[in-house]
Amino acid sequence: MSEEKQSGNLVWFRNDLRVEDNTALAAAARDGAPLAAVFLVCAGQWEAHDVAPVRTDFLFRNLAELRKTLDRQSIPLLVLDCGDFGKVPAALAKLCGELGVGDVYCNLEYGFNERVRDAKTRDALEKAGLRLHTCTDQVLYAPGTLLNGSGEYYKVFTAFRKKWLEGFGSDLVAERTARKLKPLDVGGPVRGALDPDQVEKLRARHGSDAVADLYPAGEKEARGRLRAFISDGVADYEENRDFPAREGTSGLSPWLAAGVISVRACLRAALEANRGRADGGKKGISCWISELTWREFYRHVLVGFPQVNCNMPFRAETDNISWRSDDQQFRAWCEGSTGYPLVDAGMRQLNETGWMHNRLRMVTAMFLAKHLLIDWRRGEQYFMQKLVDGDFASNNGGWQWSASTGTDAVPYFRIFNPFTQSERFDPEGDFIRRYLPELADLDAREIHAPHKHRKKYPDLDYPEPIVDHKEARQRALAAFKNA
Ligand code: FAD
Repeated sequence: MSEEKQSGNLVWFRNDLRVEDNTALAAAARDGAPLAAVFLVCAGQWEAHDVAPVRTDFLFRNLAELRKTLDRQSIPLLVLDCGDFGKVPAALAKLCGELGVGDVYCNLEYGFNERVRDAKTRDALEKAGLRLHTCTDQVLYAPGTLLNGSGEYYKVFTAFRKKWLEGFGSDLVAERTARKLKPLDVGGPVRGALDPDQVEKLRARHGSDAVADLYPAGEKEARGRLRAFISDGVADYEENRDFPAREGTSGLSPWLAAGVISVRACLRAALEANRGRADGGKKGISCWISELTWREFYRHVLVGFPQVNCNMPFRAETDNISWRSDDQQFRAWCEGSTGYPLVDAGMRQLNETGWMHNRLRMVTAMFLAKHLLIDWRRGEQYFMQKLVDGDFASNNGGWQWSASTGTDAVPYFRIFNPFTQSERFDPEGDFIRRYLPELADLDAREIHAPHKHRKKYPDLDYPEPIVDHKEARQRALAAFKNA
């Protein structure tokens, strides 16, 4: 086709599988240009990034929903199998040539490999006389625009949050939805574009639908969950959020991580329920907004401190820690058989559902890095391989925070005691019983430390603690001090 056309726009969907409040889509549609959309399957890259098969499945299911939504406005969604990021620039340039479009729109992603891919794509398009337009969408403030007094990226969350709030205004969360989309006539089948059956085959090959029932796909689902949380959950968020047995958090992370709902939509809903206040007002709401700010903070960290993208610690000195390579204990941690019930319940929640409560992510991560003194990067990787909401920035940030190699303002001697965490955050043992049925007969007093009640339960099929808490704590303190 092409040559004289060059008037249409191509929207390149990545981690933003939605039509509502999508900055790149709205920008591409702004001048009324005809649109086509593309999604590039990069399964080799996803594998290299340890994307969990349950997350891949969730992605493909959301892609199918996106196709249906775009279909309603006759916007073609072309899905190409690219293999890995290296093939993206040429594939996109070729597709633009075939469609006769001159402008490609996408929302920015902040991981190092993603930024390299985008830089190379920009070059390839420019060489072909085409343009790549990148939009800020995942965050309110583009990384680099929220700096401290010395012009540097923030290293500590509280200072970042203060600055984030200072500049906050409703314009930052204004909706960016293109109401009427005009389809580009792609003139019949496009070379290399997969039909829905072929896409389904890729989903079956690369994904796992083991937990699909728990995470229905689609924007409508995500919006419904947000609405339900704002009307029933957010008011008590501050009291409930640390108790894994309660449904105290939004559970929105899989949809946010895949971009099926925008962070602006979440913030708008929260602000509306808090008389427009991002801070103060109802405690539950400002606390929830603060958690969404952590998500943004860790994206800024990726750009400001690029070493964290390269398997390196945020705090360089912690690279001197002599981590232990105890495969047996690592396996026990992965499987949830450490003899520490709260740790084990958390790991089994992850293995069985692809998701873990935030309190338990901290407890289990800290247990691996401090009690077992096993390199946090092994745990970070294991989480990614299992999480339906795997998100490099938040996972890396959360792991480094927990391992005291990252942005935690408290020094390395923050070492949670898993037994007291258990008594405090699962006082009745309800959560532990849900994931460790072998402890179902133990009462609320006994369940946090079953090894102390062996005499009463001689046949208990549950391991002894694989490390002694006090000894492990001392060992971790010494290792950090020596580093
Ligand atoms: P809510 O409490 O309802 O919070 C709303 C949203 O805010 C979340 O969906 C999430 O997008 C964001 N958020 C909340 N807490 C945090 C936080 N501490 N850091 C960054 N963003 C936050 N979150 C991920 O989305 N993907 C990950 O891969 C991930 N890995 C983690 C690993 C570790 C070791 C730790 C300690 C935390 C990790 N988190 C990760 C952050 C947090 O645990 C999850 O976002 C949260 O449990 C998701 O549940 P929710 O949607 O009910 O959260």
